[in-house]
Amino acid sequence: MKNVLITGASGGIGRAAAVAFAAKGYHVAIHYRSDIEGAEKTRQRCKNAGKGRIFVFQGDVSKATDVSYMFDRIQAEMGGLDILINNAGISDFGLVQDTSEEDWDRLFAVNCKGVFLCSRAAALMMLKKKTGSIVNIGSMWGECGASCETAYSASKAAVSGFTKALAKELAPSGIRVNCVAPGLIDTGMNRRLTREELVSFAEDTPLGRIGTPEEVAKAIVFLAEEDSSFITGQVLAVDGGVTI
Ligand code: NAP
Repeated sequence: MKNVLITGASGGIGRAAAVAFAAKGYHVAIHYRSDIEGAEKTRQRCKNAGKGRIFVFQGDVSKATDVSYMFDRIQAEMGGLDILINNAGISDFGLVQDTSEEDWDRLFAVNCKGVFLCSRAAALMMLKKKTGSIVNIGSMWGECGASCETAYSASKAAVSGFTKALAKELAPSGIRVNCVAPGLIDTGMNRRLTREELVSFAEDTPLGRIGTPEEVAKAIVFLAEEDSSFITGQVLAVDGGVTI
């Protein structure tokens, strides 16, 4: 059985991905930052879904010391990693003139630096085995830009660029790197949106609705596994057609 780490798996897309991997028999490492109850709920659902071992790790992906500690524990307790899902992320909403330097730095620290730190640590493990798969979670806004989400859009565009560069760098070592770019998905991240805003967005989506975390999880599992063995450096939109 293979080992997978999903960052930011205390809810939303990360939890759905963790449960999907558990259902396929993986040993699953659930990572969270602050929502311990959410992480426990994910652990329970993974336990119910499959027979693999379940691990829970806490940490801030933007802090090198936290990431290093988590990967040391993964090596010691799980024996390494086959798949990394860089899912942890935060969003922010506001006009560019109201975006502070701190807001900008925080978004890039979590959404970009976190992806870099975890990928670097995972690559060290995967390079030894000359195999592995990394899936980063970007966003449709990283591909086409969102008004009032300039910092978030820029941070997710950086995730796409990082994906393509790292895919080229690690391909000769048998490691694939891809990205899933979700559209509007029904998770806690969008709690700030009003009912009217959600309906309006759904109407503007070619498939006529917003997406579920489980739909994104299916794309993550596909890109992580051998079914996509000749695919690397790609950004797969899971957005109901918004970015067509
Ligand atoms: P969510 O429900 O808010 O989950 C975010 C996860 O990230 C949580 O588990 C959270 O942990 C973790 N996290 C936040 N800051 C962290 C940090 N500094 N260190 C470690 N973990 C941290 O959001 P979601 O919608 O599932 O989002 C998952 C990913 O999909 C994100 O990268 C997001 O940008 C992307 N995405 C979402 C949508 C959408 O519409 N929902 C669309 C496009 C892309 P704690 O709660 O434990 O602190």
